Amino acid sequence: MLEPLPHVREIPPYVPGKPPPARPGLTAYKLSSNENPYPPLPGVLGAAEQAASAMNRYPDMGCVALYDALATRLGVGTDQLAAATGSVASIYHLLTAYCGPGDEVVHAWRSFEAYPIAITASGATGVKVPVTADGRHDLDAMAAAITDRTKVVLVCTPNNPTGPALTHSEVAAFVASVPDRVLVVVDEAYLEFVRMADPVDGPALLRAHPNVVLMRTFSKAYGLAGLRVGYAVAHPDVAGALRAVALPFGVSSVAQAAAVASLASEDALQARVDSLVDERARMVEGIVAAGWSVPDPQGNFVWFALGERSAAFAAAAGEAGLAVRPFAGEGVRVSVGEPEATDRLVDLLQTLEPPA
Ligand SMILES: *Cc1c(COP(=O)(O)O)cnc(C)c1O
Repeated sequence: MLEPLPHVREIPPYVPGKPPPARPGLTAYKLSSNENPYPPLPGVLGAAEQAASAMNRYPDMGCVALYDALATRLGVGTDQLAAATGSVASIYHLLTAYCGPGDEVVHAWRSFEAYPIAITASGATGVKVPVTADGRHDLDAMAAAITDRTKVVLVCTPNNPTGPALTHSEVAAFVASVPDRVLVVVDEAYLEFVRMADPVDGPALLRAHPNVVLMRTFSKAYGLAGLRVGYAVAHPDVAGALRAVALPFGVSSVAQAAAVASLASEDALQARVDSLVDERARMVEGIVAAGWSVPDPQGNFVWFALGERSAAFAAAAGEAGLAVRPFAGEGVRVSVGEPEATDRLVDLLQTLEPPA
């Protein structure tokens, strides 16, 4: 049999968050994929159904309605946008367009598990820069890791799975220190959940530095994970390259319609995000009251740095009807979801010994 290209064998597998285990008499909760526990925003299901009724037609390949809505909202040109089947696909498109064998891509680690997969698939080499003990990007070390071979740096803020976000000043200083020929991707999958001083202003970064690429998604705050739609905001030349390598007709008509309707439901979105942020605060209070601690969570998830205890912790959570996401030997990520799930997590923590 013909062999795939050598790097294809090196692609690490993606480990998806497991569904919750069935426990008789116990409502199970899925806290393993950073999904939104809420149903679609008002008007979204209707828009999706209407689009679905025309499923015999191809979607609008130009994503005109979506780009118009996003351009107005973000204050950018429609030529600065490139939609994709989730922002994971945007990352693939960027790496496909700009990287190949011999090129390097610098990113923090542990960070989003799709990065090493997408980097390896592009043929490029990933350069992992360890996060600090409190789960933050070490931007000085990342800047120092840039070589003549570096094409792209991936910055994830808030960082999945560890939780902390970078400030605007930190990212702006970092971008200023990176050579103009290197693209700096700012992965803002969780930006709506950030509640800290000096939050990243992505469009301002992009105005100041044309080598910045913002990655955003409808999967998390907007709750459209199952429909697969995200986008990049970039300099028109970069956005054009991403659109050029994208699969034709990738973003379905249902996903486009749902995204446009979601953008029109801003007040309801804010209310939901606020309530998840409140739930996150309540979760942290419970965690601390149980004698545990987590790095400052700025997304819709918290991180327990449990090392070798991670698998056992995830198993205990499973027994309690909670699906969580273990990273073997490193830690466990738990999404913020239903209040009862939070209560159950805190009850579990009270029965376990926190790490020293
Ligand atoms: C969830 C996530 C994404 C986007 O996922 P899609 O569903 O493909 O849009 C991107 N980056 C990070 C860090 C994420 O956690």
